[in-house]
Amino acid sequence: MKEKKFIIRKTEKEWETQLTQDEFHVLRNKGTERPFSGKYNVHFESGNYCCKGCGEELFNSENKFESGCGWPSFDDEIIGDKVQKEEDNTHGMTRTEILCKKCGSHLGHLFNDGPTSTGLRYCVNSLSLDFKKTP
Ligand code: FE
Repeated sequence: MKEKKFIIRKTEKEWETQLTQDEFHVLRNKGTERPFSGKYNVHFESGNYCCKGCGEELFNSENKFESGCGWPSFDDEIIGDKVQKEEDNTHGMTRTEILCKKCGSHLGHLFNDGPTSTGLRYCVNSLSLDFKKTP
């Protein structure tokens, strides 16, 4: 990961201190939580989903839908260009990785098979997110 381009930069040690082991694995080492294991997979309250690494608001509940894939899924991101896309050629596939633009934390992947008018499916790890309920 080219750390230089992110506004928030921390050492590996600092991230390790801030995050749990599982969060660190997903956010900083591009890991994937087990499907259907995350706390936001089936979660449909009104509010914003923020980056677990830096708190930046990334997704709104209005864009969340039940994809059945086992991870929180959104058909769009919050306005403001806060989600970075990068080509990911690991695991013998060509996918689009999504990261928090502010801190570079790995969120998940973006697919073009969404069922709504956007045609998009942001497949995000629950571990990468923090939910902020609408007051
Ligand atoms: Fe972030």
